[in-house]
Amino acid sequence: MESLIKSLDSLYCDSLTSYSRRKTIPVRVGDITIGGDNHIVVQSMTTIDTMDTIGSVEQSIRMIESGCELVRITAPSIKEAENLRHIKAELRKRGYQTPLVADIHFTPNAAELAARIVEKVRINPGNYADKKKFEVIDYTDASYADELDRIRDRFLPLVKICKENGTAMRIGTNHGSLSDRIMSRYGDTPLGMVESALEFLRICEDENYHDIVISMKSSNTQVMVQAYRLLVQKLNEGGFKPYPLHLGVTEAGEAEDGRIKSAVGIGTLLEDGLGDTVRVSLTEDPEFEAPVAKALIDRYTGRKAHSPIAEIPHYPITPFEYNKRHVSEIYNFGGHNVPRVITDISKIEKVTDREMKVVGHFYLPELDKWKMNDQGCDFVYSGSNPIPFMLPNGMKEIQNFSVWQNAVDSVNKFPLFTLEEFKIAGRFHSELNFLEISDTEMEAAIPVISVRKDVVLILKTDNTHSMPALRRAFVNLLEAKSDVPVVLKVSYPDQSADSTTLYAATDVGGLLIDGLGDGVLMSLEKEADHSRQEILDQIKLHNSVSFGVLQAARTRMSKTEYISCPSCGRTLFDLQETTAMIRKRTDHLKGVKIGIMGCIVNGPGEMADADYGYVGSGKGKITLYKGKEVMKKSVPSEKAVDELINIIKEDGMWNEPETI
Ligand code: SF4
Repeated sequence: MESLIKSLDSLYCDSLTSYSRRKTIPVRVGDITIGGDNHIVVQSMTTIDTMDTIGSVEQSIRMIESGCELVRITAPSIKEAENLRHIKAELRKRGYQTPLVADIHFTPNAAELAARIVEKVRINPGNYADKKKFEVIDYTDASYADELDRIRDRFLPLVKICKENGTAMRIGTNHGSLSDRIMSRYGDTPLGMVESALEFLRICEDENYHDIVISMKSSNTQVMVQAYRLLVQKLNEGGFKPYPLHLGVTEAGEAEDGRIKSAVGIGTLLEDGLGDTVRVSLTEDPEFEAPVAKALIDRYTGRKAHSPIAEIPHYPITPFEYNKRHVSEIYNFGGHNVPRVITDISKIEKVTDREMKVVGHFYLPELDKWKMNDQGCDFVYSGSNPIPFMLPNGMKEIQNFSVWQNAVDSVNKFPLFTLEEFKIAGRFHSELNFLEISDTEMEAAIPVISVRKDVVLILKTDNTHSMPALRRAFVNLLEAKSDVPVVLKVSYPDQSADSTTLYAATDVGGLLIDGLGDGVLMSLEKEADHSRQEILDQIKLHNSVSFGVLQAARTRMSKTEYISCPSCGRTLFDLQETTAMIRKRTDHLKGVKIGIMGCIVNGPGEMADADYGYVGSGKGKITLYKGKEVMKKSVPSEKAVDELINIIKEDGMWNEPETI
C-alpha cells in the first residue's frame, strides 16, 4: 500500500490541511445538480412497498418536507419499476418536483424500464449481472476478460437508455455484496470495492456516458472511508473524469449509535472535502434521515475561512489501510490498551457518589459497593473540584496540577499540567502525568516530553477545521518519532445534544479511523453556566458518545453492535420494532455483532461481518445465520428471537444480563 502514496498529487483529496471541496463534474438529476460547484445534496430512501402508490407518495412528501432533495425508491422487479410512473405523476400533481431514483438489485429489466421513467437509476455492480453464490473461482486473465464481456453485454442496454433519456446513474458498490468474481480476485477489500465500480465505469466511459455518481458503502467505517479515498486516487491515476461521490454508511443502525456511525464515516470524508451528496441510513422512519445528513453537511458552510494549518510536505500516514500509530505504554494508555475514556465532571462541585452513575459507575449503598456498566469511564477529570469520596478501583481521577500538588492522596490521583506548569514543575506523579496542549503548542512540547516516560498528551485545538488541525499535530509527532500516547480533547459549547454527537463523531472518529488517538475527552470547559442537572445530563451524553465513537471507529467494543438495514420496499417485517425487541434481549453482549436485515435478497450480503444474522425470508418467516452460514430457515417470527438466542448460546457467546 505504501507505493500507492507516491506523492501528495496522488493522494485522495485536494488538501489535507486547507478545507476545499474536491472538484467534480456536475451531474444533472432532474432539477438538481450533484457535484461541480453545487451544494452537497441531501437524499434518502422510502421504506414503504413501492406498489403502494399513495403510501410511497406521502412518505416521499414527509421526506421532502424534512429536507430530502432526492428520493430513492426500490424497484425489485419490473412491476415496481412500472409503478414509479404513477408515484412520479402523483408527486408532480401535488406540486413536488423532487427527482426520483430507482434502486436496482439483480434486475436489469427493471433498471431499463425505470431509466425511462425516473431521473436517476442506482445499480449495485455486485449484483447487476451476477447472482451471488459465495463461490471462490480461480480466474485466468482470459476467463476474467470473458466475464467482463458478459457484464458489458448485460449493462450496455441500460447505459444507452440512460444516455438517450438524460437519466443519471449511481454506480453504488456495497462492501457486503461484492460479486464472487471480485471477491475471488481482490477479496473483501477496499480495492475490491473500487474495482467493482470501475468495471462498470469503464463501460460507461467507452460509451461516452458521464452522468455518473459513485458510492462505496460499508457498515464498517474504516473500510468505507478507505474505499472512498482509494476510489478518488484510482480515478485520478486512471485518467477517469472526477465523478461526484455519494457518501453513506450502510446499515448504520438507529438512534445515537446510528448517528455516530454515520458521522464517523461520512464526516471523516467531508472533512477532507470529499462528497457531493449524502444519504444517512438509519433504522428509523426515513424523514429522520435528512436532518442528520443536513447537520453533517451544514458544518462546512464557511469552513474555508478556518485559521491556517501548516502544510504537510510528506504525509506519513497510510490513508488506505488501518495502521495504529506506534505508541508506548504509559500506565494503561497506549501499547496494546484500548483507547481510554476520560469524562469531564469538573463543572460539578462536590459531586456525590450517586451522581457518578452518569459516567457508568453505580454506588450501591446497601452493599457499600460499586458496580460498573459497559460504559463505565476509565478516568474522570475533576479539574479544581476534587472528588470528596473514595473512588472504585475501576476509575481514576485527574486533577489540575495546582490542586493535585496540595492533595493528601497524590498517589491515586493524577495531575494535569499546562505546558507552562510542566516546564517549571518540581514535582510529578511517578507513573502518569497529563500534559494538555493545543495543536499550535505541539512543536514546543515535543522536546519537553521526549525526555520523559510518564506523560500522556491531551491534545486540543481552537481551529474550526479541527480534525485536520489535530491530524497535523500528529504528523509533527510522527516526524519527531515520538511515541507518546495522545488523548483527543474536543468541546462543543452551546451545541445541541444532536450536534455534539455528530461533531464529536466526526472529529474524534476521523482521527481514530487513521489509527490516531489513545483516548477521548469531551470537555465541559467552555460550557456556559447551566443547572446542576443540565450539566449532569451533558456529562452523561459525553460519556456515552465517547464510548459510541470508539466503537463506531472500531477501536473499542463496549456494547453489542447492531447492523440493521434501513428497510425499503422489500422489507418483510417491522424493522424498528424487531430491532428494539432484539436489542432488549441482547444488548449486554459486549462486542457481539448482530445483523437484522429486512429481506433475504440483499440482507445476507449486506450484513457483512455480523456474527449472527436475523433475516426476513418470507411473510412472518425468519432465516437465522451464524456468520454467513444458515443455521435455521423459515422460523416463525414469534419464535425467531428465542431461536437466535439459542444459536448464540450454542456458540458459547451468551452470558446472562447483570442487573444493577
Ligand atoms: S436488506 Fe433491508 S434495505 Fe436492503 S434490500 Fe433488503 S429490506 Fe431493503
